[in-house]
Amino acid sequence: MRVEELTRVVGLKDIVVEGIVSESAEQVHLAVRPANDLPLCRKCGDPCLLVHSTRARVVRHLDAFGRRTWMAFDSRMVDCLACGLGAEALSFVDPGMRTSRAFRRAVGELCALLPLKQVAEELHLSEDTVRTIDKEYLAAQYPPPDLSDLRTIAIDEIAYRKGHKYLTLILNYESGEVIWSGEGRKEATLATFFAALSPEVRGRIEYVSMDMATPFINAVAEWCPRAAVVFDRFDVVKHMNEAVNDTRKTTMAKADAKIRRSVKGKRFVLLRRRATLTDKDAGRLEELLTLNTDLTKAYLMKEDFQQFWTLPSLAEAATFLDAWTAEAADAGIPPIARVGRMLQNHRAGLLAYHRSRISNGLLEGLNNKINVLRRSRYAFRDLEYFGLKIRQLSIVRSKRRHQTYPLVDVTRDAA
Ligand SMILES: [Zn+2]
Repeated sequence: MRVEELTRVVGLKDIVVEGIVSESAEQVHLAVRPANDLPLCRKCGDPCLLVHSTRARVVRHLDAFGRRTWMAFDSRMVDCLACGLGAEALSFVDPGMRTSRAFRRAVGELCALLPLKQVAEELHLSEDTVRTIDKEYLAAQYPPPDLSDLRTIAIDEIAYRKGHKYLTLILNYESGEVIWSGEGRKEATLATFFAALSPEVRGRIEYVSMDMATPFINAVAEWCPRAAVVFDRFDVVKHMNEAVNDTRKTTMAKADAKIRRSVKGKRFVLLRRRATLTDKDAGRLEELLTLNTDLTKAYLMKEDFQQFWTLPSLAEAATFLDAWTAEAADAGIPPIARVGRMLQNHRAGLLAYHRSRISNGLLEGLNNKINVLRRSRYAFRDLEYFGLKIRQLSIVRSKRRHQTYPLVDVTRDAA
């Protein structure tokens, strides 16, 4: 192949390929030179007559026909009349970098699809290098979000490491994007987020979806006193399931052999919603419920509470909640009484669901993908990177969601 053709294949407009320095089945090293005879000043863009010095550089570029490709060239230091000493302007590579811009973009795009470790193996790079490149790509691709229209947020925490290490995530409910992440799950964690918002932006927030967690409640009361807190229905279900499971344990402990045999191994059927059980499991559940123990009662109360979310009006929801918590107080089952007190203490935020109809479901939906990320060792070491990856996942997903279910009425133009 002639060098003109090589230049065309490489396809960089300010590079001329002069020849192949060395090659093997896996890799190829090209000798190249900048296309313009007079180097341009990086600061002002003017051509410079004075070249102060040159420096030999080797830059990794996109693979050429499956072979890892490097370009060797002399980069010129210019003495610009206006700006003084400085590097020459090169559009394909940034100063000091050992990889071309196109290569770095390709690494970032691959990291959106594959685990970091796999990208590193595929490209014969260290994981540290891939992470550095991806982090820079993410920062450029997903700049800090525009929060001027922020109205509804969802707050959740994820454990990123055993031993109670948490990351708090904040989601813009309308756009579906994770707009912030920070280490910890304390009041101070959220204060860091709120303090960075202007008073106008904070004042526009109407609803905040969250777990029944005191630090989050306190932080919102302090920073967004006008916002209505909406407790997440998935969190309520979690507390209900815990109460049923605790009741199962105490029932087992004081039961006779017959009941114990019946209850044994039924944890799963008790914690699933009745409507989602197979016929066989539903049969196993019925058998359990005929025993008429505290566990039977606890289970039925849990199932009964499901209605709360579908009641048609705020007034009916309030009546139902008060009746349910009164029954929980009288049932004589400590775990159920505890949940009842908890719901009564969080009454306003539970009823707020009937005005806003929001939950943390969108964040819950990200959890599977975050779990995959969490297996990477960088989840532990570089929380900034972890936060950027989560933000990327949320944005990619919300774009996909909007494509499937367009938010604008596309039929109107056709009519
Ligand atoms: Zn200049």
